[in-house]
Amino acid sequence: MEKIKCLIIGGGPAGYTAAIYASRAGLNPVLYEGMEPGGQLTTTTIVENFPGFPEGVDANQLMGDMRAQAVRFGADIRRGTITSVDFSGKPLRLVVDDGNEIEAQAVIIATGAAARYLGLPSERKFRGMGVSACATCDGFFYRKKVVAVVGGGDTACEEATYLANICSKVYMIVRRDVFRASVAMQERVKNTPNIEILWNCNTREVLGDESGVTGARLERKDGKVFDIDIDGFFLAIGHHPNSDVFKAFIDTDENGYIITQGKSTKTNVEGVFAAGDVQDPSFRQAITAAASGCKAALEVEKFLMSN
Ligand code: NDP
Repeated sequence: MEKIKCLIIGGGPAGYTAAIYASRAGLNPVLYEGMEPGGQLTTTTIVENFPGFPEGVDANQLMGDMRAQAVRFGADIRRGTITSVDFSGKPLRLVVDDGNEIEAQAVIIATGAAARYLGLPSERKFRGMGVSACATCDGFFYRKKVVAVVGGGDTACEEATYLANICSKVYMIVRRDVFRASVAMQERVKNTPNIEILWNCNTREVLGDESGVTGARLERKDGKVFDIDIDGFFLAIGHHPNSDVFKAFIDTDENGYIITQGKSTKTNVEGVFAAGDVQDPSFRQAITAAASGCKAALEVEKFLMSN
């Protein structure tokens, strides 16, 4: 049984930032970075909205640098995924996929969320080459171009209106004949002249060549199959927070996002904190994740001093 003062779970902006602060505070943090070191950001290319990089920064470089910064101050960063937890008492107990058993005084959950994709092979093929699940991250690359947004929820409507400011035209591909989004968001979409809604449509295939996405083949509910010409294909069909392994002990909302208390990163279990997208259904930005990782580490420091 390994005894750890501060365990951080997740290798994205929230986890690495928590590790930078916790290591500088002398908490000797151990961070397990899971299956996808660097987190969701590594599925994109250039990050242009992270402050401090006037020319933009390669996403993998940014995450690699955050990681290196944490290591520089002594964070122990390891490959590995937490497979089970027992938060019923003190110390907090966790098991890693390599069999390592841990007793931790404090835990920061920063496991992120994964964007949902349709699951089409062509969608996978063009990921990062015109297929994206983040309009705020990648929309800028489609200035004056034609794009499509899949989905009919608040995220899809928000992303479509955001893209409509940048792109010449935005198609919304909606699988039913109604939106799921709130009325206010629906109105905003309907009042945006360069958004065309394709109701009752599902995507059969993302079309493209070596330059990236060139179109999409859609099938309408009445059986009609047709192609649209597009340069970008944005998914907005929801996210899945990576909270499943903690659910027996940690309170989540109806979509699986960990519930934190007010402005704090505290969960319902004393000594367990949550940061980043796993507790944030609204903002989902690298900068907001990093900020909450900082908050979590400061709260752990305070918690450990008083316990
Ligand atoms: P939602 O689950 O609300 O919506 C997902 C949308 O994607 C639905 O229209 C759904 O269709 C569609 N969809 C799901 N799977 C598929 C598929 N395989 N093929 C095609 N379409 C599919 O997710 P959101 O991310 O939009 O929102 C999540 C939560 O965050 C919600 O509670 C939302 O209100 C909130 N939110 C609030 C915002 C705000 O207030 N500004 C902004 C963004 C999100 P169907 O309706 O047919 O199921």
